[in-house]
Amino acid sequence: MSDTTHQYEKIIEFKEVSKVWNPGTSKAFTALKDLNFVIEDLPGKGELITILGPSGCGKSTLLNLLAGFQETLPVTSGEILLWGKPITGPGIDRGMVFQKYSSFPHLTIIDNVRFGLDINRIFLALSEEEIEKRTRDWIKKVGLSGHENKYPHQLSGGQQQRVALARSLVLKPRILLMDEPFSALDEPTRLEMQLLLVDLWKEIEATVILVTHSIVEAVYLGDMVWLFSKSPGRIVKIFKDLIKPIPGMPPMEFQKKKEFTDAVDNVAEEFRKIEQGNQ
Ligand code: ADP
Ligand code: MG
Repeated sequence: MSDTTHQYEKIIEFKEVSKVWNPGTSKAFTALKDLNFVIEDLPGKGELITILGPSGCGKSTLLNLLAGFQETLPVTSGEILLWGKPITGPGIDRGMVFQKYSSFPHLTIIDNVRFGLDINRIFLALSEEEIEKRTRDWIKKVGLSGHENKYPHQLSGGQQQRVALARSLVLKPRILLMDEPFSALDEPTRLEMQLLLVDLWKEIEATVILVTHSIVEAVYLGDMVWLFSKSPGRIVKIFKDLIKPIPGMPPMEFQKKKEFTDAVDNVAEEFRKIEQGNQ
């Protein structure tokens, strides 16, 4: 078949993906085994998928494979396709936000946020004015106006995660990968960051895959929650049609709604079964 839009309906496809660390040695460890899933492209909308699963079940391995990190590639067997093509390395179509602040300590906030634009400026055909404007726009959107000339160590943990978000989003990635992005933050800051992500959602129009160990966070942020088994991770259950966060409404208020707490209880019950080893 010729190059038609059909090819691009699947944004991400995992086909029988297995990842064995240290294969062929006494330390061989199967992190993922025969993992299959498809994420459809929803143009101009995107989708936020949250992943919950026991520690060590391969969640970070999955995200790192998608990010195309050389330390994690190649898969041991199977295939990971991005718009129908195998992933061979990182790309500006994918952004990653880690739990630990991933900004450059020696660069100011503005230079951190514009870093990706600077190194891709020829490819993106951006003028200095466009880079400057886009950078300042994103600094504003993540609530860091006035902090442009500070260094990361001069910011709080929450502010540093705002920098990490801006650094990724300034590149307008089609896929945003987030590995326990708010786990290191105190509870009020974590809720602030959840609200920020919900508010930015309309701007992002990307497919977001967010790993969390908080069931409340997974249900709050996710259009879908994927529940993973113990290692090697496979998808045990997918929760769809979850109650949608209301932009602007404080998460603490929203998370008291009965419809929300019922959804959390439902996911928690299934998660308990996995942790108790029934699945
Ligand atoms: P999770 O994020 O779900 O906690 P990970 O994907 O980090 O799990 O790890 C899954 C398994 O793979 C763990 O047992 C871990 O020790 C192992 N693992 C992860 N990264 C590496 C690596 N670079 N080398 C060897 N083993 C690894
Ligand atoms: Mg992890």
